[in-house]
Amino acid sequence: MKIICIGRNYVDHAKELKNPIPENPVFFMKPQTALLPNNKPFYYPDFSTNIHYELELVIKINRNGKYIPERFAYKYYDEVALGIDFTARDLQAEAKSKGLPWEIAKGFDGAAPISPFVAIDTLNDKENIQFSLLKNGQEVQRGSSKDMIFSFSHIISYLSRFVSLKMGDIIFTGTPAGVGEVHIGDVLEAYLEHQKMINLMIK
Ligand code: ZN
Repeated sequence: MKIICIGRNYVDHAKELKNPIPENPVFFMKPQTALLPNNKPFYYPDFSTNIHYELELVIKINRNGKYIPERFAYKYYDEVALGIDFTARDLQAEAKSKGLPWEIAKGFDGAAPISPFVAIDTLNDKENIQFSLLKNGQEVQRGSSKDMIFSFSHIISYLSRFVSLKMGDIIFTGTPAGVGEVHIGDVLEAYLEHQKMINLMIK
């Protein structure tokens, strides 16, 4: 399986990082070793002093496809989870300034905490999937799938022109505004609608 991540998919987050609104989805990948399931603690790495959380909706691909037309893309996923796209913002800034790839800042071990998947059909409103992140009990991020620049279907169709999608692949679909630093001792809690999906200790 592979992990594909979309960058800059919410206008308010693109603005907070002073990035332009993209014409097409920006994507990058994380290796499978980045996954951190089952609320395992995140160990703050020694190579960064500025790790940021980015809470994102994650969809799982349920059949193989390439060149998927946008109108059929809804058939390629039926489950959603929450994931945190941990980013070493200091290493990412350095990479960006040199025009280098982002893997060093986004692909490290533990950089992709993920919740269990739930069937999208069990949610209130497929077009308005609400999610939020609390840091030490304070809400720091709140988003809805309706505010995405590129919909799940658009993302799947676009990606599948370049990269074949396989059953079991997962896609992090971008973060809303409110990204920020974590420190050792912090606790992150992520909610999908009213259901607590992630409870993560930073160690
Ligand atoms: Zn992200």
